[in-house]
Amino acid sequence: MNHTTLPKVLSINIVKARVDGKPGKRAQLVLNTGECQYAAERRREKRKACEFCAFHDQKPSEHGIPFGDAIHMATNVARVDAIELLMSGGSLLDQRQVAKEQLGELLGLIPQSQIRTVLLESRPEFITNESLLFVLRHLTTVQNPHQPMNLEVAIGVETYDDHIRCEELGKGFAFNKFLAAAGQITANGATPVAYLLTGLPMFDETSARHDLFRAAMKIDEFSRLFGQLIPGYRYPTSSPVRICIESFFPVEGVTTLAAGSYLTPAFVAGVVRGIMEKFGLEIYIATSSENTGAQHPLTEFKQLFERFNESQDIRHLDAIIRGRAE
Ligand code: SF4
Repeated sequence: MNHTTLPKVLSINIVKARVDGKPGKRAQLVLNTGECQYAAERRREKRKACEFCAFHDQKPSEHGIPFGDAIHMATNVARVDAIELLMSGGSLLDQRQVAKEQLGELLGLIPQSQIRTVLLESRPEFITNESLLFVLRHLTTVQNPHQPMNLEVAIGVETYDDHIRCEELGKGFAFNKFLAAAGQITANGATPVAYLLTGLPMFDETSARHDLFRAAMKIDEFSRLFGQLIPGYRYPTSSPVRICIESFFPVEGVTTLAAGSYLTPAFVAGVVRGIMEKFGLEIYIATSSENTGAQHPLTEFKQLFERFNESQDIRHLDAIIRGRAE
């Protein structure tokens, strides 16, 4: 089979994080999938399209290393436990972005050895029983045909506020669509991941804190509901929906918006600490800027955030909060 048509890999970032409830290493691969097809469609319709996203108008290119080589480096050199298939634009389950045959071939190249978990990104409208079963079938290993790898499906929810998400950010889907997709993912034995964005300039410090907190509260409610509906469901002993908190920051040439001045390491640590105390959710705080080359706003306390990501120990957040006061 010709592998040259598979998307190449623009960058590989190795991070320490949780993998299936335990400390582990994740390889974040940014696939060169060209411009986001959702954003391109919105632009054709003369509608707003995620201008906050560094990748919303990424031009197609041949850049990158072959996918198989990147997987080899991640598994045999870096020896990671999980592979995250991030994208230069779009949804991995959108067949306009990556054709079904390509997706099947791509997933089939992920070796079975020590990889326990694969994460992919998608908008909610592409998350169906059929698309999830397709992915799970391709992640089933030869050694263990009845036990697919753990699948995580990440959705860019960004904010609890429907108006800001749909209209101001131009993402065009309501929080309920995320919950419906999370239900499909969970019912198929996979794990939903909610990407939440903080630092948006439409919020001040208080409303930004409330926004993250309300999103976490709804996700917690969803998890409890599933706990009642599905016998033997793992919640709350392990987290049913992972939350990944990303920081909004302007990328030159992409957006003219400035991040809210409240976006500091102490602010993010404080909000996450509050959520951790109230809900039993697993939270990852992103501290890298993927392929943008920009300095991340949390860089100053990157190591402490990484220790928190790996351990979920709030004492690392306390150290970041104290760092502001000293
Ligand atoms: S946020 Fe998602 S849907 Fe919007 S442009 Fe970026 S990749 Fe596309």
